[in-house]
Amino acid sequence: MRIVEPKAQIVDNDWPIERKLAWAAAICYDKQDSIAGLSDDECLKKVQNYYDRGHMSVLEMHRMKIKLFSSGLLSVAKNEYRGTPWVDFRGRIMVASLRVLLESQAPELRALGKTLLQHDGDKAWPLPPAYRLSSASLGVAEPVMVRVECSLNIATQIVRHRPCSFLQMSQRYTDMSDLPVIIPDVADKETGKVMLAAADYAETTYKTLRDQGLKRQAARFVLPNMTATKLLVLTSVHHWRHIFRLRCDKAADPEMQRIMIPLEAEFNRRGLI
Ligand SMILES: Cc1cc2nc3c(=O)[nH]c(=O)nc-3n(C[C@H](O)[C@H](O)[C@H](O)COP(=O)(O)OP(=O)(O)OC[C@H]3O[C@@H](n4cnc5c(N)ncnc54)[C@H](O)[C@@H]3O)c2cc1C
Repeated sequence: MRIVEPKAQIVDNDWPIERKLAWAAAICYDKQDSIAGLSDDECLKKVQNYYDRGHMSVLEMHRMKIKLFSSGLLSVAKNEYRGTPWVDFRGRIMVASLRVLLESQAPELRALGKTLLQHDGDKAWPLPPAYRLSSASLGVAEPVMVRVECSLNIATQIVRHRPCSFLQMSQRYTDMSDLPVIIPDVADKETGKVMLAAADYAETTYKTLRDQGLKRQAARFVLPNMTATKLLVLTSVHHWRHIFRLRCDKAADPEMQRIMIPLEAEFNRRGLI
């Protein structure tokens, strides 16, 4: 058993999109370090494979700023975009994930999504001449990704925020025999001991069930709410503000405040909010 400190960090890197997506997906398997050894082409193949298998939230984990040259397309984008609609009509900029493009009602946007997903061996994502990636600053629409380590308790609350895209470590793909746990700040010496004993019992039961032949997906049923998990959360600065308003409040769970208050300070320090 391992005691883990809850935390949240902004993820920033300037990798090609396929590497970003492959790295994001690897959180599900708790293997994000393994992506460093892959070429961009191998990353792209992984992303294509997630698409083929229907692991679609992977394709949401990067939001592109695309300059559109047709007002018709801008209107379609505005109407259909699920999650966080953001279209700047004056600048003709649409903020979209690969998933939004691939599932668009507009054949042109679907075709653009396919072009991006299926390009072969080319490191730069090829955009047809009618579109180009915009470097415009989006202000409150700017997407920000955050990596969170927290208890299952808190993860359940974070994933209630609907305009976000999420990926979470899977207990089906990750062995939990060395159980990572979070002890709440409010636990004192005595209550902390009781919690650790409960976690120890759960860990032993999990290992016994695994030894008896149960798959991870069944053995995980005995794991407690204090089990630590990892999450990637991607949403706009605008929506992060909303999350901070709710989750830094003194009415929020103390573990949530422990994560969100320093994160809000980091957003402030970087001038994001
Ligand atoms: C102190 C506290 C206690 C809570 N207790 C409970 C509880 O006991 N049980 C429980 O189930 N939940 C509970 N929640 C969760 C809470 O009800 C919300 O589901 C969660 O905080 C997500 O925030 P949100 O609904 O404001 O918006 P988000 O999902 O973050 O969405 C952002 C904004 O988008 C808009 N929006 C998104 N989807 C819709 C929609 N379908 N319809 C209308 N507007 C939408 C709204 O303007 C919303 O503010 C609690 C939350 C807090 C902060």
